[in-house]
Amino acid sequence: MQTIQHWIAGGRTSGGSTRTSPVWDPATGQQRGQVLLAETADVDHAVAVAADAFESWSQSSLTRRSAVLFEFRELLRRRANDLAGLIADEHGKVFADALGEVQRGLEVVEFACGIPQLLKGEYSDQVSTGVDSYTFRQPVGVVVGIAPFNFPMMVPAWMHPMAIACGNSFVLKPSERVPSASMLIAELWTQAGLPDGVFNVVHGDKVAVDRLLEAPAVAAVSFVGSTAVARYVHERATAVGKRVQALGGAKNHAVVLPDADLKFAAAHLTAAAFGSAGQRCMAISVAVAVEPVGDRLIELLRNRAAAIRVGPGRQHDSEMGPLVTNDARQRVTRYVDSGERQGAVVAVDGRHLVVDGHAEGYFVGPTVLDHVQVDMDVYQDEIFGPVLAVVRVATPEAAIALINANQYGNGTAVFTNSGESARAFQRAVNVGMVGINVPIPIPMAYHSFGGWKDSAFGESRMHGPDGIRFYTRGKVVTQRWPQVEQHEVGSYHFPTGS
Ligand code: NAD
Repeated sequence: MQTIQHWIAGGRTSGGSTRTSPVWDPATGQQRGQVLLAETADVDHAVAVAADAFESWSQSSLTRRSAVLFEFRELLRRRANDLAGLIADEHGKVFADALGEVQRGLEVVEFACGIPQLLKGEYSDQVSTGVDSYTFRQPVGVVVGIAPFNFPMMVPAWMHPMAIACGNSFVLKPSERVPSASMLIAELWTQAGLPDGVFNVVHGDKVAVDRLLEAPAVAAVSFVGSTAVARYVHERATAVGKRVQALGGAKNHAVVLPDADLKFAAAHLTAAAFGSAGQRCMAISVAVAVEPVGDRLIELLRNRAAAIRVGPGRQHDSEMGPLVTNDARQRVTRYVDSGERQGAVVAVDGRHLVVDGHAEGYFVGPTVLDHVQVDMDVYQDEIFGPVLAVVRVATPEAAIALINANQYGNGTAVFTNSGESARAFQRAVNVGMVGINVPIPIPMAYHSFGGWKDSAFGESRMHGPDGIRFYTRGKVVTQRWPQVEQHEVGSYHFPTGS
């Protein structure tokens, strides 16, 4: 059986790891391999290697860094199909969706290729007589990235290209459920000419994460995952003085206003709820129907959901794949059971779906729950599966109040034909990313990604301008070059800039 090792100092290694975790093929329920789980000493080794590599990489010229990034971009483009295949095999999402994920990760690399422009400082001439002042940014040191299972390539790519472009070294801890894409990424960095030790991969569980959070040489931590772990990572790493950005879970609402094109809304809601089997942090999991559109919207959603082709990610006509693990499948069906028990109407039921030839796969079909109330577990919790809850409200104001009372604030959307209503919505919702007739408003790489409330801890969002700020520290220099005949006695007064 294949054993996936760590990547430290430019090559594969098992270090002192003996514990392993199984890696599944979610479409068949068969074990594909196993991944090593790092011990504290393995983490310390990776961090020490990264700290050593930082010494020289942080001194590399911008020209050299951007040359490596351009080469990395080319290699990624060439190996996009291989990466998408690994993602489809371990995560279960359909191949075309996996390819889309690779493309969005690639866009961050393309943004980072412009690092010479992005790191240009600021200069003020003559702030006082014969005195100039300027600001520039320097890398922070060893940066850690801890990633979730649902975007094996894209989420780490929000982090490492930016951090490395800024002159840092990097230790990635991927999800133990989807470890292989990160190994191919490591190979491509090496082929692109990145010096050994600048990019490292340590596989593992809580043991590895806890050590990464406290290792003294780690300067900054980027985390993406569930809210409970994001909060924990933020508290623990900030307590020992590290800078931390930690993105958490979500419950994304899409409001359908009475003036919306309902067919358009239903088509896009279905894609946003069931794409990747609902395992996207920006998936729409709640549709808020502003009456009187509820009945008609349910009818349209029912037709759309029933037509989705569910199958293995590698099958070319599949539109939706399985859930990532058997545990995830069971959790999702338990939630649908509980919604039904608590009074929701199961308008589309995916619990009993069996995919031909894949009876052991972790499939759950698209599921739509109608008449969901806010006190039900299916509304309160992040289900992270192909379940769309429909909540009916009387007014647009009630829809906004519902969203603002929710603990999460990652993404939201409104379907409407009124610019006035859309503007009122975008200004009033307490959510970090808003879509107007766009159900999954994922920012492009040159904007930054991040939610509000319990969907993100720490001030900084990922990639884009926030990424540059997070992975660098600003320094301000005030300089004077007095001419020999101007040497004067220094003033004892506080300098006032005359
Ligand atoms: P998760 O929180 O279980 O795992 C994330 C990472 O933390 C993994 O690398 C895992 O090994 C590690 N981890 C898990 N439990 C830990 C613990 N107790 N202590 C220390 N480390 C631990 O998340 P997941 O199931 O892999 O991913 C799905 C979650 O991620 C969902 O909640 C989803 O909304 C969220 N997510 C959020 C965003 C965003 O941008 N806000 C993006 C993608 C995914």
